[in-house]
Amino acid sequence: MANIILLGPPGAGKGTQAKRLVDERRMVQLSTGDMLKEAIARGTDLGKRVEGIMARGELVTDDIVIGLIEDKIAEGTDGGLIFDGFPRTLKQADALGEMLSRKGLSLDAVIEMQVDDAALVARISGRFTCGNCGAVYHDRTRPTKVAGICDVCGSHDLRRRADDNADALKTRLMEYYKKTSPLVGYYYARGQLATVDGLAEMDTVGAAIAKVLDRG
Ligand code: AMP
Repeated sequence: MANIILLGPPGAGKGTQAKRLVDERRMVQLSTGDMLKEAIARGTDLGKRVEGIMARGELVTDDIVIGLIEDKIAEGTDGGLIFDGFPRTLKQADALGEMLSRKGLSLDAVIEMQVDDAALVARISGRFTCGNCGAVYHDRTRPTKVAGICDVCGSHDLRRRADDNADALKTRLMEYYKKTSPLVGYYYARGQLATVDGLAEMDTVGAAIAKVLDRG
C-alpha cells in the first residue's frame, strides 16, 4: 500500500490519473478541489466562502484545505491515498507531513506530472466532464462519441468548470508557479520526487506512474 501525491499545474492530468489508480488499485482519491466543489454544490457555509475565490482561480486559505484533508484521512486509507491537488503550498506540505506521521502513515512518492504552459492552455480550454459519472472529455482530443451524451453512462449532464475560462486559467497558472511549484524542490530535497511526462498519451502516463508505485 502506498500513499502518494500527484503534483502538477492545472490541466496536467492529475484527476484523470487519480481516477485510474482508484479503479485499478482501489486507492482513495483525496481531491481538495472536488471537496470544495461539492461544498459549493451543496450550498454549505464553506461553499459560500470559497465560491468567488475559486471562480477567480485563486487558492483558498491553507487552513480550509488542511482541515478537509485531516477529516478525510481519519475516514480510512484503504489501498493507499492519492493526494490530488493537495498540498499546493509549503505550509500545506508541512501540515501533511505532520498529519501523516501522527497517524503512523508514510508518504511513498511525490509524482510530478510535467507539462508546458502552451499545452496546458490548449488542454484546459476545451475540457468538459460528465456531471453524473465524472468522465473527462475534450472538445478536440477526446470528444464524446455522440455530441452531448456521455460515452460511459449515457448522461446528458456534460459540464464545463466555471474556472476553466481564460482569465481564471491565467490566475490558476500564476498561483501554481508562485505557490505550488516550490514543492518540486521541497520533495526533491527529501528524495521523494519522481517525474513523469504529463504530455504523453494517457496510458503511457499511467504506465509511468505504475512503475513508480511498483518500484522496490
Ligand atoms: P482543482 O480542481 O484541484 O484544480 O481545484 C480547484 C480550485 O479549488 C483551485 O483553483 C483552488 O481555488 C481550490 N483548491 C483546491 N485545492 C486547493 C489547495 N490544496 N489549496 C488551496 N486551494 C485549493
